[in-house]
Amino acid sequence: MIRFLLIAVGIIAIVYVVKKLLFLYGPRPSGCQRCDGHGYWRATRGEKVTCDECGGTGKAKRGE
Ligand SMILES: [Zn+2]
Repeated sequence: MIRFLLIAVGIIAIVYVVKKLLFLYGPRPSGCQRCDGHGYWRATRGEKVTCDECGGTGKAKRGE
């Protein structure tokens, strides 16, 4: 019984971690199309460039 509980907790933990990773690194459907929801992109020399489409929020503008 304890073994079953440990397996169940393990599966829940793995699902939670995978979901969190997908949220952090995966594509965001509601995010800005131009910067893929990051709010910035890397320029040619590696510097951060704030996305002027969403103003750095990473969220797509509504009503446009
Ligand atoms: Zn953007």
